[in-house]
Amino acid sequence: MPAERLLPTSEGADIVALARDFATAELAPRVAQAEADAAFPRELFRELGRLGFLGMPYPEDQGGGGQPYEVYLQALEEIGGAWASVGVGVSVHVMSCFPLATWGTAEQRERWLAELLAGDVLGAFSLSEADAGSDPQAMRARARRDGDGYRLSGAKAWVTHGGAADFYTVFARTSDDRAKSISCFLVEADAPGLTPEPPERKMGLTGSPTTSLLLDDVPVAGERRIGEEGEGIAIALRALDSGRLGIAAVAVGVAQAALDHAVAYARERKTFGKPIIDHQGLAFLLADMAAAVASARGVTLDAARRRDRGLPFGQQAAIAKLVATDAAMQVTTDAVQVLGGYGYTKEFPVERLMRDAKVMQIFEGTNQIQRTVIGRHLARQG
Ligand SMILES: Cc1cc2nc3c(=O)[nH]c(=O)nc-3n(C[C@H](O)[C@H](O)[C@H](O)COP(=O)(O)OP(=O)(O)OC[C@H]3O[C@@H](n4cnc5c(N)ncnc54)[C@H](O)[C@@H]3O)c2cc1C
Repeated sequence: MPAERLLPTSEGADIVALARDFATAELAPRVAQAEADAAFPRELFRELGRLGFLGMPYPEDQGGGGQPYEVYLQALEEIGGAWASVGVGVSVHVMSCFPLATWGTAEQRERWLAELLAGDVLGAFSLSEADAGSDPQAMRARARRDGDGYRLSGAKAWVTHGGAADFYTVFARTSDDRAKSISCFLVEADAPGLTPEPPERKMGLTGSPTTSLLLDDVPVAGERRIGEEGEGIAIALRALDSGRLGIAAVAVGVAQAALDHAVAYARERKTFGKPIIDHQGLAFLLADMAAAVASARGVTLDAARRRDRGLPFGQQAAIAKLVATDAAMQVTTDAVQVLGGYGYTKEFPVERLMRDAKVMQIFEGTNQIQRTVIGRHLARQG
């Protein structure tokens, strides 16, 4: 864990301390077995919900925790560092609430938002398809008008919490006009015709189910469309700006955990008559790891503070996601190196951290796509 956190309020400090205590007591003892078994810890999300973590960054008058992103992300870092699948799950749930909280009408928010933020239900964010990941506008799933409502058909892919979620924020095509073709819907998990496929067999983040979602003429009431028809891509991109900060925070947590394991090991392990941390060649590796973790945390919290002050933060969120997830990959790989042969075994957690870090460079926009986002911002700057 970082030596000292700078939080804006004592309430924020208490919340992050609560996250750390929960991570130590409830997550750390279970993570290794559950990840080995690919077991999704649904009941832990209910606990996190009861403690307020699933609605934390949304306004209190909407049923949220009213906390700034600066606090939410530091709590998320503690959770994600102990168990990446759970940290990613909290971040995905928070993102799946974003369209309703931000684009929903007063009546829609009044009707559904408090329940989504209360912590009993779990959300999923279904944008990607098998042939539409980096380019979501290539999606083929359709929402066709049916009386006052819609019928959704097609296949979504890569849905975190597929089969475990209580609601899905689904994006589907309502027209073929590329600029204004996609719309956003809040779909209940028990809607007829909505069928999650079996989970993907992944190299990491195995405790987090990722599935395809078959949509077979799923009836969705018109009042469950969020935003106007054709606003779906704008909604998704805004949601991803905030979601990327969540992934960056989890990546910082994973990197910090790998650094902590590596330093503890390097103080104990002896070669040539002294602890390996006293060999300058290895101490420099650890120093670079510490610098990478601190830099990743710095850019992530800088973006969060901009968001909290109402400033534009899309470019900073893309930079945070790029820097933090690349740092997590490098630091976890180096942690395996510090542990030598033992690092390569499942007796120590660093190999799991390395496998978990990899996907963070891929989802919520690959790190190539983050560079295109940053480049677009640079091209527009005065
Ligand atoms: C474990 C997991 C969980 C996920 N969870 C979700 C979820 O909850 N909801 C959801 O909607 N999606 C989710 N995804 C999907 C994820 O967001 C996509 O996999 C990701 O956006 C990349 O899309 P793709 O896999 O189709 O790769 P592609 O888009 O086919 O890209 C392949 C490669 O080409 C590169 N590339 C593509 N276009 C460009 C370009 N213009 N310039 C440079 N390089 C480019 C990419 O960076 C990548 O390296 C998840 C994925 C995984 C693996």
